[in-house]
Amino acid sequence: MHEYSLVQAVVERIEEEVQKQRALAVHALTVSVGELGGVDPELFRTAFETFRQGTVCEKAALTVRVVPATWSCPACGKAIEKGAVLRCPACDLPAKMGEGSDGLTLDRVELEVP
Ligand SMILES: [Zn+2]
Repeated sequence: MHEYSLVQAVVERIEEEVQKQRALAVHALTVSVGELGGVDPELFRTAFETFRQGTVCEKAALTVRVVPATWSCPACGKAIEKGAVLRCPACDLPAKMGEGSDGLTLDRVELEVP
C-alpha cells in the first residue's frame, strides 16, 4: 500500500509548514489525487486516519479530490479540466501540465496561526 508513504510525505510537508508559520494546529487539508496515479482515495483516507495519530494532523479534516485532468494552475494548484481554457480563472496564469495527473498534490492546508 503506497498510500501510507504518500500520507507520510503529506504529513511531513504539513509539519514543515506548521513549524514555519508557528501554527498551533491543523484544521483541515485538501489533497488531489490524479486518476492516472493509481492512488485509491479510500485507501488514502484510511491510511491518513491511521497515520495521523500523534501528528500535527491528528484533528485535521481530510478532503480527497480525484483529479481527472492533466492540467493545473502553477500558483494555486487548481486543476483545470481538459477541454476547458487552459488557464487558471483565479490567478490568470497559464495552466501547467500537472504532476497531479499521475500523483498526489497537497492543495490546501488550514492552519491555526496565533
Ligand atoms: Zn491559480
